[in-house]
Order: sequence, then structure tokens, then C-alpha cells
Amino acid sequence: MAKLKKTPMRQCIGCHENKEKKELIRIVKTNTGEIFVDKSNKSNGRGAYLCNDINCLEKAIRSKALNRSLKIEVPEEILHELEDSMKE
Ligand SMILES: [Zn+2]
Repeated sequence: MAKLKKTPMRQCIGCHENKEKKELIRIVKTNTGEIFVDKSNKSNGRGAYLCNDINCLEKAIRSKALNRSLKIEVPEEILHELEDSMKE
């Protein structure tokens, strides 16, 4: 029997599509309330996922999905950091 490879899937908070976790950008809020773009994908805390797509970021900002899923107002500089990392 062939082994089934389980790919972890996460939902983008912008377009609500399920994608492979590794294709998504993770924004994390630690239990001390610190917010950052989690490039290692290994930080503990509450995470939100976005496609590597500026449209998804804009949707998530407009619908407040980002603030909602992290239960905090996401600081501008984090949004800019996301924007920059998506432009590359
Ligand atoms: Zn998306």
C-alpha cells in the first residue's frame, strides 16, 4: 500500500481558499501580544495565513479579517512588511 502523504492545508484569510501551508505567508501573534511576519513558520502563537498575493492582503485588510483572526489591530508596519514581501 502506498503511503498517503498528508499535506498541511491552511485557509487564506483573504480569499478563503485552502492552500498548502508552505505556499502561504504566516502572520503570528505571540502570547505576549507581539505581531510579526513569521518567515520560519515555526513561531508559537496565534497565526493567520495569507496567499503570497497582494490582492489577498488587501481583501484581508478591507474585510478586517486580519484583525479579526489575530484578535488585535495589526500595526501598519506589519502590513507594509507584508506588502513588501509580496512584491518581490
Ligand atoms: Zn488568498
